[in-house]
Amino acid sequence: MGNSPPVFKQILSELGYDVVVPPPPSRRTLDLGTKYAPEFACIPFKILLGSYLEAIDLGADTIISTGGVGPCRAGYYGELHRGILHDLGHDVDLIIIEPPLKRPADFLRAMYLLFRERKAPLWKLPDIFWRAWLKLNAIDCVEKASHDIRTFEIDKGETTTVFRQCMEILDAAQSKIEIKEATDASLELLSAIPQDRSRDPIKIGLIGEIYVVLEPLANHNVQVKLEEMGVLVHRSIYLAEWTQNNALTNREYDVKKAAEPFLSELVGGHGRNSIGETVLYAQKGFDGVIQLAPFACIPEIVAKSILPYVSRKLNIPVMTLFLDEQTGEGGIRTRLEAFVDLLVQRKKKKEGQLACVGI
Ligand code: SF4
Repeated sequence: MGNSPPVFKQILSELGYDVVVPPPPSRRTLDLGTKYAPEFACIPFKILLGSYLEAIDLGADTIISTGGVGPCRAGYYGELHRGILHDLGHDVDLIIIEPPLKRPADFLRAMYLLFRERKAPLWKLPDIFWRAWLKLNAIDCVEKASHDIRTFEIDKGETTTVFRQCMEILDAAQSKIEIKEATDASLELLSAIPQDRSRDPIKIGLIGEIYVVLEPLANHNVQVKLEEMGVLVHRSIYLAEWTQNNALTNREYDVKKAAEPFLSELVGGHGRNSIGETVLYAQKGFDGVIQLAPFACIPEIVAKSILPYVSRKLNIPVMTLFLDEQTGEGGIRTRLEAFVDLLVQRKKKKEGQLACVGI
């Protein structure tokens, strides 16, 4: 999911596994998953299934993945994936790591299976996980920096090229010192990109279900597309932050509190967060919000049904993009352009200028 594979590759290889990293999700991955998944499964399910099949093609005999809890089907993903893979004749072990706070027994069982075959001695484990955690945070930090810069870059596409180099540098870093040096070097490379800071971009908050928010294939790289259109985009979810606030501790009080007047119940997935984050973006003066929702994702459908009220009440435009394997690149681009034009007009009107679409 997103830029996290180097972190998990590092943990597993240091535990002594021969690691097969499936290629980054592509159209082929999605087609493979769609072919064998139930028709109304959500897009994360299909991409994951496609990735498992690609990893099996590359020789994987054990698959390690993460699970989920709450009133949405993520909790059944593991079982369903396991059943489909076995029905297809693949004799693979599927180890699902459940959230430790919500399902401690399942989490410990997965840890037992994971460590059963490990070659690293027990005393090394804290160091292995600590360095992986540092790396995950470093990746988030560098990615955030890239998003702060892309909107202002002078040569379109340069930030994306430099960011790829940064990910290679971070991938190679293993020790604490190397991770620190790789982070500094990456931030330096990014800040050297020529920028025009006199621009006054509109600001959009990106919310929605975690997998489609983090996985560029699932969302057609909306954040980069918007930034290349000159929009400043703030993404509500980064993996290290999310892990810290949800899997390791139970935080995000501000988001829950902000959602409370509109939706006080947990509806599964990121449904309640989508409401709370929209409220916070409105309070922070953002020009608009885009919700990324997997087609047929109940938590995001619940949020979507409440968002028009939030939008009217707090005077912030919200656009929902439903995503599945049928969603086309062209359609997404057209809708993004139309939404950005609308926000530009609104902003100019607010500032007392003559609004003009397309400028
Ligand atoms: S939150 Fe939505 S997309 Fe994610 S697993 Fe649940 S139903 Fe599927």
